[in-house]
Amino acid sequence: MNSNITEFNSETDKAFQTAWHSAKGGDDNWYGFLKSYEAVPLTIEEKEMLLNSEMKIAKGAFPIELRRVYEKIVEKHSAKNDAELNNILASFNIESKVKEYYQKIKPFSGMNDIFSNASTTMNKYSEGLQKEKHHTFKCKNCGAPRLEEMQYDNCLFCGSVLFETK
Ligand SMILES: [Zn+2]
Repeated sequence: MNSNITEFNSETDKAFQTAWHSAKGGDDNWYGFLKSYEAVPLTIEEKEMLLNSEMKIAKGAFPIELRRVYEKIVEKHSAKNDAELNNILASFNIESKVKEYYQKIKPFSGMNDIFSNASTTMNKYSEGLQKEKHHTFKCKNCGAPRLEEMQYDNCLFCGSVLFETK
């Protein structure tokens, strides 16, 4: 295997591990890592919204921030113009990597969790969404509802551009 590929694999692996071992919602180590790639972190307001949304996480940085690091890594390695590496880059599916990551940071859902989550999500956001269900957009990748009180095109949770009408 050529060394560019080895390097790419170890960088993406490190990104995944660093995000995964971060405290819930990101910690100093994660933000230092993000900064080393000049990837843009979520704003405090966005993080606050996500922590109060129905997309619960048990640990780790938010998937959208991992996506932003992946994008920087791919961009950096694309610049090398290595044909063999480019094949690897083309098959590196950020969408599914981010989804795979989300599966790992999801809280364990036993029945009790489902009920307690259901009651805690009866906050002002979900009440609003339930009233206007036909206007709700869900992310095709991770299933997050689009929060209506903010203007954005990409999923705030995982960064996917794919929203669909429920
Ligand atoms: Zn999403």
